[in-house]
Amino acid sequence: MARITWMALFVGVVLAVGALGQQEVYYLTGNLREARGVITTDKGAEETVFFGRVGFKVIPSQKGTQLGLIELSLVSKGVGTSSGHTGTLGLNLIDDDIAWYDARLRGGSFAPRMVLHYALIDQLQGFQTLGTQGEDDAFLPFTEGMAGKLTLRLPEGLQLRDKGSSTAEMELAFDLSSSVLGLVKRVAVSLRFSLEWTRLVSPTLVLKVQPVFIGSGPLDPARTGTAWDTLMSYARVLWARCGSVRCITFSVNPPLYLNKPAYKVLETLDEASALLGEVEVVDAVEVFVVSRMDYVCRTGGGSCYSAGTASAKIVTCDQQLAVPNPCPCPDYCPSTCPPCPPCQTGRVNLYHLAHELGHALNLAHPSGPSGSLAASTPRSIMEPSGFCCDNPAVQSAKNCRNFSNPLLHWGYAVCSGSPDIRD
Ligand SMILES: [Zn+2]
Repeated sequence: MARITWMALFVGVVLAVGALGQQEVYYLTGNLREARGVITTDKGAEETVFFGRVGFKVIPSQKGTQLGLIELSLVSKGVGTSSGHTGTLGLNLIDDDIAWYDARLRGGSFAPRMVLHYALIDQLQGFQTLGTQGEDDAFLPFTEGMAGKLTLRLPEGLQLRDKGSSTAEMELAFDLSSSVLGLVKRVAVSLRFSLEWTRLVSPTLVLKVQPVFIGSGPLDPARTGTAWDTLMSYARVLWARCGSVRCITFSVNPPLYLNKPAYKVLETLDEASALLGEVEVVDAVEVFVVSRMDYVCRTGGGSCYSAGTASAKIVTCDQQLAVPNPCPCPDYCPSTCPPCPPCQTGRVNLYHLAHELGHALNLAHPSGPSGSLAASTPRSIMEPSGFCCDNPAVQSAKNCRNFSNPLLHWGYAVCSGSPDIRD
């Protein structure tokens, strides 16, 4: 008798979970290309062209259809100000915003809060560092805030669809709400574009990466970048484990070659800063690969500048896979990076680029100050490790939920991986 009761309860729970699991969730996502807009600075209004992405979660219910704004970014090559050209300018959504579908509007009206950053802020204000004990590899930009309105209009008679596209109209206007330089006052864009429908899962987010090697070209026997293929393949493996949470992948441009041999060995942070200024690819995170960095003990052999923004750039070295013997920083090896003997040499830092890309994706170290960066998980890939140990080959659901960068765009990939840590 008891057995029958438990069986009935079990079937009831399964049915209830099944019903919940069948909750209708649709996604409407689109990449913005060649979107004409106006940036108003202290010098006046200037027209510019934006690219970016937008994503909505669409949830029908008995009360009506809920629209959740889950992704929004705008990136421009920048405009002039009284203090110089802004350089790459990016806006990124801070947190989700929800509106009810309004049949009269044929859409919804949102009040998003955005992070604003442009390269001129870094040039005039410099960076903050995380101040992590023994390793300071994330250079945090000062950022500003914008608040405003987004109005979405969809075709007449909203029909939820599993696939296919709808033409949408969107108007965006943001005003400066918190400032560092305060040179950019307002951003306004109005556009017609195509949104793609998917059901249950949103499409993949893609981050474009631009490797930059030092040398005359691919046939130069002394060129840098020998560690690149290995570092990038381990980064792909680690971030593919976000698949079941929020799918992300990397699209890698062919390498650019910078024929300036003096950059092969970086001796100071100033040399690294000069190298960063040599190449600017607006829609990608540039990764400069030198031969060695003689200040590796402080940074773990690589650093991410302007972490989390459209201006993010990484500097790293081929020595990640050839840590010299004796190891140059035997006094620092944190207990939080298992397994970690006092000192390792040789092919050590396989997951180093995966870690730096995490900073480019706005993730902080799990402990210590995080500045404007988002939280990450202890003992995951975002744990700092120093130059003589690798970052943990561990992905977490929290890292996957929290990553962001204005350069992310929608694409397609197979997302079958799962995080090692569920939160
Ligand atoms: Zn780090």
